[in-house]
Order: sequence, then C-alpha cells, then structure tokens
Amino acid sequence: MKNTYDIAIIGGGVVGSSIAREFSKYNLSTCVLEKELDVCCETSGRNSGVLHAGFNNKPGTLMAKFCVEGNQKFDEVANELDIPFKRSGKLVVGFTNDDKEKLIKMKEQGEANNVFGLEIINKDRIKELSPFIEGEFALYSPSTGILNPFIYTIAMAENAVENGVNYFLGNEVLNIKKEICEDKEIYEIKTNKGTYKSRWIINSAGLNSDKIGKMLGIKEYTIHPCRGEYFILDQKAGQFLNMPAYPVPNPKAGGLGIHLTPSIDGNVFIGPSSEYIDEKDDYSVTKDVMDLLIKDGGRIFPHIKKEHFIRNFSGIRPKLVGKDQGGYDDFKIELREDIPNLINLTGIESPGLTSAVPIAKYVVSLLSQKESLKENPHFNKYRKGITCFNDQPLEIKRKLIEEDENYGEVICRCETITKAEILEAINNPLGVDTVTGIKYRTRAMMGRCQGGYCQTRIANLIKEEKNKKEEEILYCRKDSNMFVGKVRV
Ligand SMILES: Cc1cc2nc3c(=O)[nH]c(=O)nc-3n(C[C@H](O)[C@H](O)[C@H](O)COP(=O)(O)OP(=O)(O)OC[C@H]3O[C@@H](n4cnc5c(N)ncnc54)[C@H](O)[C@@H]3O)c2cc1C
Repeated sequence: MKNTYDIAIIGGGVVGSSIAREFSKYNLSTCVLEKELDVCCETSGRNSGVLHAGFNNKPGTLMAKFCVEGNQKFDEVANELDIPFKRSGKLVVGFTNDDKEKLIKMKEQGEANNVFGLEIINKDRIKELSPFIEGEFALYSPSTGILNPFIYTIAMAENAVENGVNYFLGNEVLNIKKEICEDKEIYEIKTNKGTYKSRWIINSAGLNSDKIGKMLGIKEYTIHPCRGEYFILDQKAGQFLNMPAYPVPNPKAGGLGIHLTPSIDGNVFIGPSSEYIDEKDDYSVTKDVMDLLIKDGGRIFPHIKKEHFIRNFSGIRPKLVGKDQGGYDDFKIELREDIPNLINLTGIESPGLTSAVPIAKYVVSLLSQKESLKENPHFNKYRKGITCFNDQPLEIKRKLIEEDENYGEVICRCETITKAEILEAINNPLGVDTVTGIKYRTRAMMGRCQGGYCQTRIANLIKEEKNKKEEEILYCRKDSNMFVGKVRV
C-alpha cells in the first residue's frame, strides 16, 4: 500500500467510513487512519441502533436535515450494503398533561422537519401497536427503524475497501504537520505505526475530534464526554417488544431518556442513562445506574425480569455542550478557510448513526467547492454480507451444507452460528482478526452464554486461519491478549 493520498480520513467509525465510501465514488486515493483494531469499537458500536425519524431536532439544524434525509433514504442504503434493517415504528409515551403538551410540540417540530406520519395516539391504540408498552398516550412515529450498528459500520467500511479505500487499523494519529512537497503543501500525519501524507484531511475522530482539531490549529471546540449505560436482555424478552418505546425527553438532559429498544436480532436494550464524565474512554457500568435503568425502564415496559439480563455496556456521547448548559448543540461540519484542505467534523452525537450517509454526501459537496471531482467508473455500490445460516429456510440450509460441510458444524450454540460463517468472518475484507471482530460480524458470543461455549473455539479458528500463536490472539484492543502462557503441558 502507498502512503501518499488525496484524502486521509481520521477515524473509521460509521461517519468516517461513510465518508470513505462516498469518496470512493470518485477518482481519488483515500485512506482511513483508525486507532482501534476494528471500525466499530467506539461510539458507532455503542448506541441504541435506532434509525431516528427526525422529530427530536430543532428545525433548521444540520441534525434535523441529515436525520430526516438519512431516515428516508435508508431502505436504499440497507439494500446496497446487504444489512438487516426494520422500519419498526416507535412510541414516545406520556403519562401527564405536561407530557401531552410536550408530545404535541414534538409532533409539530417533526412536521416542520418533514417527518411523515406522526400521530398522537391514546392508550387503546398503544396497546394495539405494542401490547406490552405502558402509557396514557403517545407520539407514534411509523418511520423510525432499528438496525445493527456494528454490521452497518462494518458494511460501510467493507464497501469502501472494495472500492479502493485503504484502511490502516491500529493507527493512532499522534501528530500532524504541513510540509512542502514538489512546491505544494501536503499534510504529514504521524501515527504510532508510521507516517502518511495527504493533500486533504477529514477529521472524523468522534470523541477525539477536538484533540485532532488542536493538532491542526482549531482551538474553539471541546468535547464533553457524556456516558450512557445499558442493560441487554436476552431474546426471551424480545418477544414482548416490537418497537422502541421512549419516555418524553427532558430538554436539559444529555440524551433522549431511558428507553426500551428491541435490537434487530431480537434482544432488548434498556438505556441509556446520561452522565457527564471526566475521561473519554471510561466505559464503566455502575450499580447505581443499573438500578435506575430497571426502575425507569420498568415504568414503560413492566416485563423486565432479572433472569433476562445477559450483559451491560456503555457508550459515550461526544457532546459540544457541557453539563451546565445541557441539551444539544448542532453537528459542526466545516470547510475551514483558515486551514486549507481540511474538513472538520465535531459534535457528531445522536442522531449521527442515522445521519451518516447525508453527512458523508455533505462532506464531499464541501470538498467539491475547492476542486472538481471525477467519477470513478468502477465504483460498485453493492456489498454482500455473510449469509446467516439460521435465518434460511430448511431447503436452503440443506443446500448450504451440501455445498460446504462447515455449515453443518455449529460453533455458537446460543445463536446457531456455523463454522462456515465464522470462517467467512475471519477472512473479512478489512483484515480484522480480533475475537470481538468475529462477534460483531456474526453474533457469535452474543447469546445467553456470552461466549462461555464458543469463545475458545473461535480463538482456535483464528489461530488456524491466520497462522497465529495462542499468545498473539487479541480479544478486542491492543494488548488484550487472551492467552499468556500454558497452564498444563
Ligand atoms: C449512548 C448512545 C446512544 C446513541 N444512540 C443512537 C441512535 O439510536 N441513533 C443514532 O442515529 N445515533 C445514536 N447515537 C449517536 C451515534 O452513535 C454517533 O453519532 C455515531 O456513532 C458517531 O460516529 P463517528 O464515526 O463520528 O464516531 P466514532 O464511532 O466514535 O468514530 C470515531 C473513530 O475515530 C477513532 N479515533 C479517535 N481518535 C483517533 C486518533 N487519534 N487516531 C485515529 N483514530 C482515532 C476512534 O477510535 C473511532 O473509531 C448514540 C450515541 C450514544 C453514545
């Protein structure tokens, strides 16, 4: 791979990867520098996975515009990238007169943003739509959807790679300077692994976008990390919840309130909380918040049972507003006149997942104000995902096993994931070979036993396929070695 590019994107989350895919539609050499060993390790893999409709955002903001656009065009994106997606609808439930007034205002705001089909509904209609949700009335949004944020981010990155983008994973940007190369200014970007040169920089570093900004001379932004913790319930709870159910949000809080979300794979998430923290990488989960999630979540969805809890996790919002101000600032996406050949993105908090594609198109349109772009005639918008054996009808399952006996061997029993799927995941286009890389691509280890049965089998397959020693196998990040020596010889 070369190390001089037209475009270097710093950060390979859903936004950076969408931008990479969008640039791959043109005759430009593009690379992505990502500090983690996979593309969905930070905010893009730690969220509710809701495709928002766009009624929560102030009319006239980039958030409102891109959220609505991202929502309305998502069927096309899901089809191109071959990812699971469901337009589930969503309920925002209320209990008091004050709640009702806020819901009516939210509906008006949504309509001003061009969100279709919003309705205020009564208790009977709530029960018709989602029998296990409690509330006196609700705002019903039919266009809200659910998706798997890991698969979405991975699919975006894979399609970018298939169209010629180079990903450099495990490359943390440490320093950026400008140098003159053949009479032209060029960025020299130093990472922990090497030095890359690029004519343009796109700062899409999420929680670290302020830090990267400072390396480039942008001083005005500070990211305030605001953590949201979640509980995950197993698929037994999923049968009681067919669409996300939210409370009426508090405008001063950093999020939309503790809600219940069915995942596209049939689990239920309770959360997220909202708490400003000091460190951008403090992904702890805390007992007090877990208790709060059960209490608040139980008001809307009383069918939460302790036996259904399988895991917890947290995500961190990259907020531009601090605790004292509360609420939301807008996305900042700027073509800087003071710093040539830079597009700076910061404050890409919710609804960033929903907005990723319109954000990417906007970034390309900003760059095209400075130079004309030539289309890449070889761009292929389609990407093929890993065939999920368990979702296939019986006759297809039989055919798959006939063609490849590895479909006949189940590695993850909880989620029925076969050896063929694990092998395909290990040989992914991005070259990711961590254990969580396989988990995010296949759902292996995401079931009831959380990898108790299959984790070591998967580690063994990585060892064999990638010709590694046990001691080299990483769980998720740098230095997360799973095995450090032998206990028996
Ligand atoms: C709790 C929570 C719930 C949410 N729910 C939703 C939702 O339901 N729907 C929705 O639309 N949005 C939701 N969001 C928002 C959404 O997840 C984000 O807006 C989106 O993921 C941002 O993507 P990103 O690519 O900008 O950031 P990231 O995914 O954080 O990507 C930035 C990348 O930059 C990398 N990076 C950082 N520093 C460096 C460096 N020095 N060198 C190289 N790489 C670096 C990071 O490792 C990271 O991979 C939620 C967010 C949170 C926290």
